Amino acid sequence: MSIINDEVEFLIAQVVVNSSAQELNRIFDYEVPKEYEIGKNIDIGYRVLVSFASYKSLEIGYIIGFKETSEFKCKVISKVCDRAFDTNKFELAKWIARRYFCNLSDALKLLVPPGTSNKIDNVKVKYEKWVRLTKNYKEYLVAKDEDIKEYKIKSEKQQKIIDFLVDNIEIPKSILLDVIDVTDAVLQTLVKKGICELFEMEVLRSPFVNKIIKRKSKLELTKSQTEALESIDITKYDEYLLFGVTGSGKTEIYLQAIEKVLNEGKNAIVLVPEISLTPQITDRFLERFGRIIAVLHSKLSNGERFDEWRRIQRGEARIVIGARSAIFAPLDNVGILIIDEEHDSSYKSETSPKYDVRDVASKYAKMSNCPLVLGSATPDIRSYYEALKGNKKLIKLSKRISSFGMPDVKIIDLREELANGNKTILSKYLYDEIKKNLENHEQTMLFLNRRGYSTFIMCRDCGYVVKCEKCDVAMTYHITKNKLLCHYCGAEKANVTICPSCKSENIRYFGTGTQKIEAYINKIFPEASLIRMDIDTTGYKNAHEIILNKFRDEKIDILLGTQMITKGHDFSNVTLVGVLAADSALNVGDYRAQERTFQILTQVCGRSGRGEKRGRAIIQTYMPDEYSIQMAKNQDYEKFYNNEIKVREQLNYPPFCDIMLAVISRH
Ligand code: ADP
Ligand code: ZN
Ligand code: ZN
Repeated sequence: MSIINDEVEFLIAQVVVNSSAQELNRIFDYEVPKEYEIGKNIDIGYRVLVSFASYKSLEIGYIIGFKETSEFKCKVISKVCDRAFDTNKFELAKWIARRYFCNLSDALKLLVPPGTSNKIDNVKVKYEKWVRLTKNYKEYLVAKDEDIKEYKIKSEKQQKIIDFLVDNIEIPKSILLDVIDVTDAVLQTLVKKGICELFEMEVLRSPFVNKIIKRKSKLELTKSQTEALESIDITKYDEYLLFGVTGSGKTEIYLQAIEKVLNEGKNAIVLVPEISLTPQITDRFLERFGRIIAVLHSKLSNGERFDEWRRIQRGEARIVIGARSAIFAPLDNVGILIIDEEHDSSYKSETSPKYDVRDVASKYAKMSNCPLVLGSATPDIRSYYEALKGNKKLIKLSKRISSFGMPDVKIIDLREELANGNKTILSKYLYDEIKKNLENHEQTMLFLNRRGYSTFIMCRDCGYVVKCEKCDVAMTYHITKNKLLCHYCGAEKANVTICPSCKSENIRYFGTGTQKIEAYINKIFPEASLIRMDIDTTGYKNAHEIILNKFRDEKIDILLGTQMITKGHDFSNVTLVGVLAADSALNVGDYRAQERTFQILTQVCGRSGRGEKRGRAIIQTYMPDEYSIQMAKNQDYEKFYNNEIKVREQLNYPPFCDIMLAVISRH
């Protein structure tokens, strides 16, 4: 980096303009105003306003470098604003632009809070009074132990305040007075005695400000958890795959690894799938670490997100929990990166700039020289392959913490149902089991896999699915052409109306949605209460949470839903899980269909029997012999992996090759 020295008359900044306009998609040179000095009040990552001859308004840009001369006659930067990102993050953005072939300005957009990249100076700062205990408060305790709450002060109300602050560390004054119902005078007495102190805090739209936190101390680790934790070296870069069945205590390991990192003065990022970012998970972090948590996800308002972003920037938040894009949070001095449920498809961005956050995290961990921990009960085939090759360190947790066992899983062959004259979506067996659950007042979850719905066709008598001969993936039915297409090689075939395998005319187009099923269940079980959870019912804020809480608290009999019901929650009264049609995930035109099916069935079956009673799960399918379904029945990841990896090798699919999608379009 160039440093200003005396001979240099002026300094040139290289600026990328925050615009998707093609003609602005390059680096521009601008002169830095005289009063600015690199490292002091200007640097890489500063936001600036610059002017263009042909544009009326000023454009927002980011400084990405400096030089001493330019071959152009440069304009002067119109305004230097705040710093948006540091050099480390800038390196990451450059890497993303190179690796995923996107504009640098698009990659840079990832580094500023969404919704603010085209606004500047939109911060109106307001302050309010907060309360916390002073360092000296312990002198007023009889015992030094915080748990023994005996004070040298007599007033009960004063004691209440101290008790509360021991748990909550710090809180807005107005909320404190409200929650524990004391007057300001009582608080003022404590301030005079030097037990409490008031301080100014900026008013932030944080999702936790009004939350009352009850601190919980860490759990004593089991032997295998201790070994797992010890094998993670927090002093240097390495990648770990923490492979542990659901409920094996992975989250507790994350928490304790983070604690070690914080003690070293470093910070942590935890990524979780968007869908499982529920209060249940964030509360566990809050209870352990207090308010140094920031949460980032797409359901926050722009204002909330912006404020969380700033809390991180100012060092108030040291642990960031969020969905995919939280990797770009402005956290410095990162000491550990954790990706929970690493197999989840939400870790890939399908919109521009497209990226796989696991790769970005890997790069970032290397740059920060810190560990990257990937956790899953059903790891991505690729991750497990990498781990077996030694590129990631494999840590296994093979037992659940509590003694409730895995559920009994039964596979129902839907072809036989049909042969017996049952054309409905419920097999006789599943029908009977639901009935039983209703009688016993136990809850049922019914799962419909929407992925790939209504795009493939199948023979209902023999289960035959039309596949591409070259690629061995199911062909997709295109209604407009009335043809079958292979999405891999583009091969076309005429649509079939008679099964090529058994000559049956019982060809079915898969297109049943949750709404139809809801109506049907309501009809056949009029006595049951049912709640539906899918893309249509979860559009509003906190919808997932509200539906799932209703299911749990109001003891709704049946929860019917898509993928969304498979993650994030434990319901102790669910003793039956029914998978309505396991095959729908198998017949999408994707080489990962078996993997996805295995993952999702394993997860959804694992929802059953988490409480005192043993659980059952029923998988309805037209393809009972598929190995992904068989292995999910046994909840045996390793066996599934061994089979799947052989298939991938034979057909030369990832991880044995890379697949690239190129789209060519004309504007
Ligand atoms: P996972 O993340 O693998 O699903 P969790 O960390 O959520 O597992 O643990 C599952 C349950 O077991 C949680 O209720 C958790 O509080 C509890 N648990 C985890 N570790 C311990 C431990 N060492 N001692 C007691 N309970 C534990
Ligand atoms: Zn093909
Ligand atoms: Zn057939």
